[in-house]
Amino acid sequence: MPWDDGSIYQHDKYIFTIGCIQAVVDAHPNCNFLFGGDWNLCKNGCYSTELCVRRFCTDNELCWIDTCTDHIDYTYHNDTNDHYSLIDHFICSANLIGEGDKSAIMVDGLNTSDHFAISLKINLHTLLGGLGSSAPSITKLRWDRANLQLYQSVCAQSLASLDLPLDALLCTERECVKHNCDLDCYYMDIVRCLNTASVPAVPRVKTGVEKHWWSQELDELKSQCIEITDQWRSAGYPRSGEMQAKVQGSN
Ligand SMILES: [Zn+2]
Repeated sequence: MPWDDGSIYQHDKYIFTIGCIQAVVDAHPNCNFLFGGDWNLCKNGCYSTELCVRRFCTDNELCWIDTCTDHIDYTYHNDTNDHYSLIDHFICSANLIGEGDKSAIMVDGLNTSDHFAISLKINLHTLLGGLGSSAPSITKLRWDRANLQLYQSVCAQSLASLDLPLDALLCTERECVKHNCDLDCYYMDIVRCLNTASVPAVPRVKTGVEKHWWSQELDELKSQCIEITDQWRSAGYPRSGEMQAKVQGSN
């Protein structure tokens, strides 16, 4: 990963690289993942990019593995400026490791790199037999793109078909078991109606597919870029002049 020196430029570079890894994850929806190496940050809350890595883990149900530091507590060493840090990590699908599993730092005189190697034992059984059986993908509802009119009409129709539990609503007995059950059922019925109505009216997307750094502004820039490229194409791909300058500027 790019080095995080605290500058905005390096920060953006880091986020961009996370975006590239996210694209790999998105392209392989039913796979387990194991990312290991120099993440160029410690798990100590001092790096601006740490939050981004943590979010990447949460979004994709990945675990950021702790390192066993019983014998040595750094993986990178710069003897010239006396800098030691633990910046090499494994991040993997939760089902590949057991609870509390840690990665180990491998100190070996033959390793002349300024990084020590790290190792992690993973659940080979899951890796071999579990392909395609990783955690079910999580979807979220895109209310900003919903057909609210359709939602409203399907909702109204199915809610109207529910019977109001009048006896339960009018019951004055404290802790009444029978009517508590009726109210629970009524509640579940309402939730079912709302969920059913969302199916035709609200698009669902897999979490992680839409990049969290993508914004409305980028959406507009993207459509401008497509428009200009279309104009350039229909003008016969000019290699100079105003049109070509526009295409270069938009990319
Ligand atoms: Zn009652």
